[in-house]
Amino acid sequence: MGTAVDSVNKEANGSLSDEKKVKVVFVLGGPGSGKGTQCANIVEHFGFTHLSAGDLLRAEIKSGSENGTMIQNMIKEGKIVPSEVTIKLLQRAMQDSGNNKFLIDGFPRNEENRAAFENVTKISPEFVLFFDCPEEEMERRLLNRNQGREDDNIDTIRKRFKVFVESSIPVVEYYESKGKVKKIDAGKPREEVFEVVKSIFSAIDKAD
Ligand code: UDP
Ligand code: MG
Repeated sequence: MGTAVDSVNKEANGSLSDEKKVKVVFVLGGPGSGKGTQCANIVEHFGFTHLSAGDLLRAEIKSGSENGTMIQNMIKEGKIVPSEVTIKLLQRAMQDSGNNKFLIDGFPRNEENRAAFENVTKISPEFVLFFDCPEEEMERRLLNRNQGREDDNIDTIRKRFKVFVESSIPVVEYYESKGKVKKIDAGKPREEVFEVVKSIFSAIDKAD
């Protein structure tokens, strides 16, 4: 039977048609490094669909799903939600988008997330955009952004930084070893960061 997963897989393998091949860019960086902000810019200029794993998880809480309370507790503690939950949400969003170019923002957050995503979807990213930003700057942005997020308080922020260094940096290192990381100095003002981001995506557009 053709499930949503199968059809994303088929496209990833290029078996439907080459132009339908699914392209994924993972957008990684610490909390407050500017992933969401820059993804919105990329969408506007380059026709990608932006999928923020954190936003999908927050929407799942709001929807009253049976996993909602578990997800909410994990986010409050800055912990990483089990892969199968996040991957299901990502697959569904990819399927529903009708697009074949995705920015996956804030995922994979640990090695287990990464391996599970590759195993389940058979998709490997075209590249990884890594926003490198000093912790003091990220902390300042998180404390000033006032989006009403339960995890933007100093206690949870410290936990998120720790999880980022211990669990997410190894994912960046894995992709670095494969030559797939494009690292960006994300401590600069957002307009300057976007100039660099734009040059990366323009070069790819030309290569297509
Ligand atoms: N989260 C998760 N898995 C993901 C993405 C997010 O478990 O793949 C949870 C995790 O608890 C994280 C929180 O959602 O601390 C917020 O993630 P988001 O990416 O929205 O925050 P950011 O890092 O951009 O500040
Ligand atoms: Mg975000």
